[in-house]
Amino acid sequence: LSLRLTESLANLRTKGKLTPADVDGTVREIRRALLEADVALPVVKEFTAHIRERALSDDVNKALNPAQQVVQIVNEELIGILGGEVRRINFAKQPPTVIMLAGLQGAGKTTLAGKLAKKLLEDKHQPMLVACDLQRPNAVNQLQIVGAQAGAHVFAPEPGNGIGDPVRVAKDAIKYATDKHYDVVIIDTAGRLGVDAELMKQAANIRKATNPDEVLFVIDAMIGQDAVATAKAFQEGVDFTGVVLSKLDGDARGGAALSVAKTTGRPIMFASTGERLDEFEVFHPDRMASRILDMGDILTLIEQAQKAFDEEEAMKAAEKMANDEFTLDDFLAQMQQMRKAGNMKRMLGMLPGMGQMKDLIDNFDEREINRTEAIIQSMTPAERKNPKLINGSRRARIARGCGRTVTDVNTLLKNFEQASKMMKTVARGGMPNIPGMGPM
Ligand code: GDP
Ligand code: MG
Repeated sequence: LSLRLTESLANLRTKGKLTPADVDGTVREIRRALLEADVALPVVKEFTAHIRERALSDDVNKALNPAQQVVQIVNEELIGILGGEVRRINFAKQPPTVIMLAGLQGAGKTTLAGKLAKKLLEDKHQPMLVACDLQRPNAVNQLQIVGAQAGAHVFAPEPGNGIGDPVRVAKDAIKYATDKHYDVVIIDTAGRLGVDAELMKQAANIRKATNPDEVLFVIDAMIGQDAVATAKAFQEGVDFTGVVLSKLDGDARGGAALSVAKTTGRPIMFASTGERLDEFEVFHPDRMASRILDMGDILTLIEQAQKAFDEEEAMKAAEKMANDEFTLDDFLAQMQQMRKAGNMKRMLGMLPGMGQMKDLIDNFDEREINRTEAIIQSMTPAERKNPKLINGSRRARIARGCGRTVTDVNTLLKNFEQASKMMKTVARGGMPNIPGMGPM
């Protein structure tokens, strides 16, 4: 997280409820973080306006503190735009499946052709690469090298025939693939350094002539603020069915992903993460969301918190306490949950009414949880349900069973009694009277 965003969230953390002023301050910092990640300005504006609206609505997760609420909303919205689920390649019912690549020069199309071919071969397909970039002298050769690395056949015009017609090559290639039973045809096309009307027309003509099942728009993640204009130009000029974000191994924060997904509405399908053919993966919207906001650690916190204390569990426990049904099993389950979460203090802060008991329960450390666990597990189910059964001889047996002393068992039972008394009071809506803490 950017320092300012961290600070702004830290300020929220101590407050009980989101006010419009809180939200505005945090939204300002989120806007800044998105711009730093190179998300295009119009996208940032629309996005933050929506975040503000949601943060001020009643549709927030009450189990989280205000800072966590804001982060969760931002994260959900980011994932929503980036596409909730991974979109896979649409294969033709009648092979060959035709995949056309489009994008600016240097975006990574030719490299991607090799990556796709390698992946498809691994998945038992028979891919064939087609060289339709006849603009640059070396382009055909480059594809041939990449094809050889992947172990895929490359269809290219005969050398020495002058400048070929890429539309013709593409059509011939599909016919060839059909005859030779290649089931996926990947068409590599030319790009220029900037958006160019003539080249756009060429790509559109190749599309028209080959009717591809997928047109993948390849865009360099480092492109920055130009992402929107470039993506729009390709959408209008050629149109595409999916996006591939390349060079994600660099230090681009991935703002281009958000800009492109938001302005074109097309799914991001793959991420290219290096020059090697295996440096390629399906696109994960959730990972990209945290990369954009650089908030992986906060998200982990939220996940932990939710896992350990989903609201329903807390309600159930409270109900049991109120009904005097709180057993040693419940006591153990609670401790185990707290341990799972890794940070007991934070968990207690989130349980309604438990904030004040933090200091007392702070005295439980990890080892104490382990001890407690061992002792309770050495009790019979009947004893756990009804601790009043546990007389002197039972205490001795329990202590033997878990390798502790009778004093340890006594201490545990006292702790349990104290905890269930306090919890009962909390559950009934009163404040627990904790020795040594004075009136509250
Ligand atoms: P094209 O002009 O769109 O066909 O782009 P190329 O496939 O020729 O790639 C241009 C340059 O970027 C080459 O030097 C590639 O090795 C490099 N490249 C492509 N994809 C990636 C990637 O994901 N990460 C990195 N670091 N380099 C890449
Ligand atoms: Mg190329």
